[in-house]
Amino acid sequence: MPTRLLVTGGAGFIGSHYVRTVLGRESGGAAPGVRVTVLDKLTYAGNLANLRPVTDDSRLQFVAGDVCDPDVVDRVVRDADEIVHFAAESHVDRSLVEGDAFVRTNVLGTQVLLDAALRHGVERFVHVSTDEVYGTISEGSWAEGQPLSPRSPYAASKAGADLVALAYHRTHGLDVRVTRCSNNYGPYQYPEKIVPLFVTRLLNGLTVPLYGDGSQVREWLHVDDHVRGVELVRTRGAAGEVYHIGGGAELTNRELTGLLLEACGASWDRVEQVADRPGHDQRYALDWTKARSLLGYRPRRAFASALTQTVLWYRDHRAWWDADARVANPVQ
Ligand code: NAD
Repeated sequence: MPTRLLVTGGAGFIGSHYVRTVLGRESGGAAPGVRVTVLDKLTYAGNLANLRPVTDDSRLQFVAGDVCDPDVVDRVVRDADEIVHFAAESHVDRSLVEGDAFVRTNVLGTQVLLDAALRHGVERFVHVSTDEVYGTISEGSWAEGQPLSPRSPYAASKAGADLVALAYHRTHGLDVRVTRCSNNYGPYQYPEKIVPLFVTRLLNGLTVPLYGDGSQVREWLHVDDHVRGVELVRTRGAAGEVYHIGGGAELTNRELTGLLLEACGASWDRVEQVADRPGHDQRYALDWTKARSLLGYRPRRAFASALTQTVLWYRDHRAWWDADARVANPVQ
């Protein structure tokens, strides 16, 4: 019998990469014997074109719907053996001006799914979260037991969702596993996040906005590696556990900007320094020893070549980001 996977947010950047991967259309390794139902509200960040490579796959079913809607959630969870939960409002800048959508989807939506999972005896629930729940760290790295100290409304809503998810394990015995990953880059990322925003603007001859002095440090992991980590947690992880998916390249935003300029053949005169984001976290860093030692996780994509391939993907897929004016303006 195939495993029936419900993937929420499967039309977004990382969720669609996960779906394409388990159905064998990416290099990360197919999951034989799965059937996939995607539940996605198709917000501005969701795009059915992200699933085009697998649209004709008979193992895939797409359901348009909101994770906060108990009726549609009940209908899809009833037919699921396992859930991989990516759906979220995911952009920090937007959370500064539309916090309600973040609390609603990220916290309430997660709880609606967890309730349905419990009701229908779902075997595993992988909750996909972020390193941003820990706040900011000047040196060293966070292990999984680190207290949560989120600083943006986005991070706070993800932290709330993580705690609710883990509470369903402790209180009800639901098999919940939580992943926390660093910043991702790769194809099909909505052009509001720094990599696709800068690349698409540079390719269009525009300037790019760099926050403050650009000294903030982030770890950059290719989406392929994140998705493989999520799949290892689903297949080899343990109930009630949190796993860090890290091992990316640590760079300041200024260093990343320099690499993107170079890859697009542009110079620093295309960079506009803009006022820093309020409450901008200075540095994130994950200790991913646990996933390495217990699950055999290791990132495979070398940063320099994977970043170049990513830039080339946007160059070669202009129709994807130009089609509906997807060249976003950053929300300031
Ligand atoms: P994304 O914004 O590209 O995609 C989110 C998807 O969720 C979209 O398809 C959207 O339509 C869908 N969605 C939003 N609200 C919904 C709702 N109420 N009901 C159903 N679907 C809804 O996000 P992403 O970058 O792919 O992130 C996926 C997950 O990974 C998120 O949970 C995010 O917190 C986490 N994460 C992201 C990163 C990163 O660098 N992008 C890093 C670590 C963790």
